[in-house]
Amino acid sequence: MKWVYTFDEVDKAEADVGGSWDAVRGLLGGKGANLGDMHRIGVPVPPGFTITTKACNEYIKLEESFPNDLVDQVESALRHVEEATGKKFGDANNPLLVSCRSGAKFSMPGMMDTVLNIGMNDQVAAGMLDHFDDDHFVYDSYRRLIQMFATVVMGAREEPFEDVLAEHRERRKVTDDSELGVEDLHQIVDQFKENVRKYTGRDFPADPNDQLRMAIAAVFRSWNGKRANDYRNAANIPHDLGTGVNVQTMVFGNMGGDSATGVAMSRNATTGEPNLEGDFLFHAQGEDVVAGNRRTDRIEMLGDKMPSVFGQFREIAKALEDHYRDMQDMEFTVEQGKLWLLQTRDGKRTAQAAVRIAVDMCEEGLITRNEALMRVQPDHVDFFLHPQFAAESRHEAVQRGDMLATGLNVSPGAAVGRVAFDPDLAQRWADEDKPVILARPETKPDDVHGMLAAEGVVTSRGGRTSHAALVARQFGKPAVVGVSEMHIDLSDRTLTVAGRVIHEGDWLSLDGTNGQVFHGRLETEVPDIDDPWLTKLLGWADDVREIDVWANADYPQDAERARGYGARGIGLCRTEHMFFEPERLPIVQRMITAETRAEREDALEGLLPHQREDFAGLFRVMDGLPVIIRLIDPPLHEFLPSWEDLTSELADLKIQIRSAANLEEMNRILEAIDEKSHMRTRVEAFREQNPMLGLRGVRLGILRPTLTRMQVRAIFEAACAVSLDGIDVQPEIMIPLTSHVAELARQREVLEEEAEAVMQEQGVTINYKFGTMIEVPRAALTADQIAEYAEFISFGTNDLTQMTYAISRDDAERGFLVDYLSNGILEDNPFFTIDRDGVGQLMEIALTKAKSARPDIEAGICGEHGGEPRSIALFHELGLDYVSCSPFRVPIARLAAAQAAISTKGAPAG
Ligand code: ADP
Ligand code: MG
Ligand code: MG
Repeated sequence: MKWVYTFDEVDKAEADVGGSWDAVRGLLGGKGANLGDMHRIGVPVPPGFTITTKACNEYIKLEESFPNDLVDQVESALRHVEEATGKKFGDANNPLLVSCRSGAKFSMPGMMDTVLNIGMNDQVAAGMLDHFDDDHFVYDSYRRLIQMFATVVMGAREEPFEDVLAEHRERRKVTDDSELGVEDLHQIVDQFKENVRKYTGRDFPADPNDQLRMAIAAVFRSWNGKRANDYRNAANIPHDLGTGVNVQTMVFGNMGGDSATGVAMSRNATTGEPNLEGDFLFHAQGEDVVAGNRRTDRIEMLGDKMPSVFGQFREIAKALEDHYRDMQDMEFTVEQGKLWLLQTRDGKRTAQAAVRIAVDMCEEGLITRNEALMRVQPDHVDFFLHPQFAAESRHEAVQRGDMLATGLNVSPGAAVGRVAFDPDLAQRWADEDKPVILARPETKPDDVHGMLAAEGVVTSRGGRTSHAALVARQFGKPAVVGVSEMHIDLSDRTLTVAGRVIHEGDWLSLDGTNGQVFHGRLETEVPDIDDPWLTKLLGWADDVREIDVWANADYPQDAERARGYGARGIGLCRTEHMFFEPERLPIVQRMITAETRAEREDALEGLLPHQREDFAGLFRVMDGLPVIIRLIDPPLHEFLPSWEDLTSELADLKIQIRSAANLEEMNRILEAIDEKSHMRTRVEAFREQNPMLGLRGVRLGILRPTLTRMQVRAIFEAACAVSLDGIDVQPEIMIPLTSHVAELARQREVLEEEAEAVMQEQGVTINYKFGTMIEVPRAALTADQIAEYAEFISFGTNDLTQMTYAISRDDAERGFLVDYLSNGILEDNPFFTIDRDGVGQLMEIALTKAKSARPDIEAGICGEHGGEPRSIALFHELGLDYVSCSPFRVPIARLAAAQAAISTKGAPAG
């Protein structure tokens, strides 16, 4: 078995795994694979070798012992490195020092262990002192080795070592370890060795070979460390991949003033601007730059101090971008004026940067348009639609040390509020218009009202499928969960994190987009949806996608926003929303509870002008594009006061009557009682056991044809008027909740009669379509019959899902559905991501049947699923003409539709 590959054997590794780069990364880990790869393309990388992830897994399997032959292979690889460098491991006159670094297939920054400067002991140090003429460097490197080795490999705590350093800094009145003198460092080395003995009961191993073997074993073990395990759970990385171990010649950024170490991104990871971004330190090693206890310099400073090194670094950054065709995150070290690269990987970036980098790289010719479209996640687009923390405000908070912790980013957006530890308090504050952040160890169904009242939610426990995460996503609340460093004490009413105690009522800010939690009030801003790079990317998406994107909009201003976001039609206008306007509701109630025909017609006439005005506004905004108007759908009781409220109001009035001051007041109360009880009797008549399955949808239109007539009249009067103004009106009239073709036949008759009458009166002809929603399984199964009457169908996937599953959504999402999701009975919430197997199959049947009867039938979907990327992929596959979603989801749907088209084109035929 080959357990070890030197950096110049990357071709061999590639051949051994069958040529795929992904498999090379699997075998060598991302860090090791890229080190070999950089070496192969001529980037200066200190020589070294990689021990495979297989060796790590084998080590774990053998209960922490090295597989056969591993030690021999390490030894011969080490000889190879000695030849390449001309140095010798353990040789006092010309010593080779190495680092021992972890590196798994997927990057797990800081989650596993690394030891630097392996190979030093007293003799080697003495030899180096003779050789280098830089005593400071030698002792500094030695003390770092002992410190790292003791803590990482031998399991000592960090504090005793930090205490020693602090004591010396104190004595010399300096703030920075690099300012300590040789004398101090010498003493520190001795004190560190003493610490090792004291805290581990063993001596620091003097034999370099022992050091290396022990370090390799420690890196293997760190794969199963708690930090690494937690990270994998959170990031969904499998636990059986194992880590590679990279043993690499040390280069020294702490070797005097012309030495430095740093990290850089090939582009700005926050904004995406195409400039090198990074930080470095002169006279430093390894983690000093990220450790944050020394003030780093911006990378441009390197250009002032070492122009040729900086120039070379820029060239390498560019070459690496060209090679990996993505933005790179690099570690580098300059040793006495010579530049070395120590790591490169695809850089993490913000949503804004992801969009800009994809577009820029496409325009630079580095990637294709399709690649650019596939690189941006629909969630990245979502970012542009939610409030975010202002970059400056976030930066200042970090500088102030107000960033408390990072948890799981389960629901995007920024939220600011006073922290409340129980849902009732959260609700009370929200009722008083105070913004609240609800903080709980974890949430339960009893907490939902508090979650809804809060601006955002944070929990100390729980994962991506916890109750808090699911509910927050559902209701679009920013949320961060599983902040394990955070301790919430519900009896003390405090939250302790990073050594700080936060009291109930203190301000917290949380970022559900990246999981950060801050103390204090950060400023928020709504990102610019007109971002030029996003606009361009979405334009490309429109060229590629095959499914159109429409929007659900009830009011002209919604339609305007939708059109601005790129919607190509209105897929659903819910007419009844217009009924809830305060000045209209009483007319609607009169219409519903009317006892005589005349009374009812009078009320309907009162509604007509309002509806006409709404429709006219919609048609104007959507000039030249289709507008689907759905006739009234909900059960009528939704427009009436609730029976329970009326009953308790009546009880109150009956008490008041006893204390009436005079006859006049008494009469007034009696009148009110009369009116309320009359209303209650009417409401009683509308009460149903299962209103969802009751008198609603098309059934209403059938029992109350005058209502249908009024709505149709309003639509056509508006259409005629607007079209006389030269506007291209394309109304489509949609009947809800059809289950039997006979319902449709009946409604169509009424509708055509009324439409004809209006067009005659106005002397205008309007081209319109008549169609229905498919939201009842029976309608899906008989879609061929339905298509005889319907020129278009639109899937109402919310009701269709409710009826297919026999689940009442509102009840279930606050109840058993959350359990079903957290215990894995259902993998996804079917109201969020369409159920392919059930609902999807019904849709497919309906489409096939409908097309058999009317091949050119227009078919779309208008449920919330229309804005959800995975559902959009299914709708694309089914060949729907459009998805219609909330205006805010339109940009996301445009990208998701393009990605669906690209993915299916890429798939092999059949
Ligand atoms: P991490 O995955 O935590 O970044 P690394 O293995 O990359 O761990 O190493 C930690 C730090 O040590 C990095 O700054 C890296 O550049 C530095 N380092 C690792 N190996 C060497 C080496 N051979 N010479 C100089 N610096 C090194
Ligand atoms: Mg690193
Ligand atoms: Mg419906």
